[in-house]
Amino acid sequence: VPVLRSHSRALAACLLALVACGGPEPPRAGPPSIVLITADTLRQDRLGAYGYFRDTSPALDRLAEEGVLFERALTPISVTLPAHVSLMTSTLPLRHGIKGNLIDAHQRFEGTGGLRTFAQMLRDAGYTTAAFISAAPVKRHSGLNTGFDHFDEPEASERRADATTARAVAWLENGPPSPLLLWVHYFDPHKPYDPPESHAGLFSDTGEIARYMRARGAPGPFEAERIWRDNNHYDAEVRFMSDQIGVLFDTLRDLGIWENAAVVFVSDHGEGLGQHAWIGHGTVYNETILLPLIIKLPAALGRAGERHPNLTSLIDVVPTLAVALDLPLRDEDRAQLDGVDALAAEPQRTQAYAERVEKQFDPRLWSPGRKYALTEGSWKYFHLTEGRDQLFDLANDPFELRDVFISNPDVARRMREQLFAILASPTGTVPDAPPLPDAIRRQLEELGYLE
Ligand SMILES: [Zn+2]
Repeated sequence: VPVLRSHSRALAACLLALVACGGPEPPRAGPPSIVLITADTLRQDRLGAYGYFRDTSPALDRLAEEGVLFERALTPISVTLPAHVSLMTSTLPLRHGIKGNLIDAHQRFEGTGGLRTFAQMLRDAGYTTAAFISAAPVKRHSGLNTGFDHFDEPEASERRADATTARAVAWLENGPPSPLLLWVHYFDPHKPYDPPESHAGLFSDTGEIARYMRARGAPGPFEAERIWRDNNHYDAEVRFMSDQIGVLFDTLRDLGIWENAAVVFVSDHGEGLGQHAWIGHGTVYNETILLPLIIKLPAALGRAGERHPNLTSLIDVVPTLAVALDLPLRDEDRAQLDGVDALAAEPQRTQAYAERVEKQFDPRLWSPGRKYALTEGSWKYFHLTEGRDQLFDLANDPFELRDVFISNPDVARRMREQLFAILASPTGTVPDAPPLPDAIRRQLEELGYLE
């Protein structure tokens, strides 16, 4: 009887699909596995797929050929922990309330306001969830382990891409039950810029990188030779990371996971590298908020090689997957998602919001107070709580070098109103967590987080 039943079900499936079924019904594919790669501190412009002049990213360029490349994806905040919380909950920092990898007032993700992570949502939907992370800001103390069955982190402040890849590959080769949510976090492009010996000499020319970066306003107040060297080492780390991601991708192909999986590649923020008098991140200029974002869907859903020119936010990643993969999420979880479907036929997003943290840095380099940014079309508006607002015309000034606030009063007024409407939305506050463990505090300091 079961044989007959399954036979008639196969027949019904053929009729429903209105296609000629010449042979036995192929096994029905379950919900697709999802591989989410976050590359910490990776500028969008440093990948070949985004037009960079150096060969920094062969494995990622190949991913772009198989997936959709988003040309204008922005992070809402260029700091590791809050950006990852925005990604995983599809909410802005205004709502989830986490604003830094703070040492003095330790904040951690604890589902404040009832927020749940993508890992929690998928685990409830029957997924096996695993994370392999590479650095201190997103270790267990951050709360980002929430929802993961398996959470693998380095003992030290950070580890290189080869070490993290090896752990993820070993786990995959053990054959965990499908479908999978696999999150792999890489940290190589982050400071210090110290590529492994195998890659250290890859990009040593300073003339070409100097021309490229001078067009973008570098080296600012810094010694030029140092900035060009930092850029060269940064690019070498990007190449090392990309090669290791290639090893992970090859494993997924060898194990037969790749074809039916969604693979997302994104960064949490970029890096100044000498633009706007800044080397690290935390700012709201495009070199730190513009992200590489590539989404490869399961082969059956197609869309290979597409390029998406419209604005996208990091908070759109989860809702886009939810729609494209028809994920079996609970209604409350769907209702939580503030992002939009970035692959919808009609673009759903016209604006993208970002904010900067308040820090007590060298005042010559870091203007005081908070700073908020709104991007719409080719305009970008800055509101500074302790300074004059600014407006940039990205069509004519893509690197944000000339403030045109004075000559465009109508645009400025309209965008200021829109930005203030966003800032007036209900905000979340996160209670201070217990003091950071000393070891984690030391590790964050080692990585340059002196907040
Ligand atoms: Zn980061």
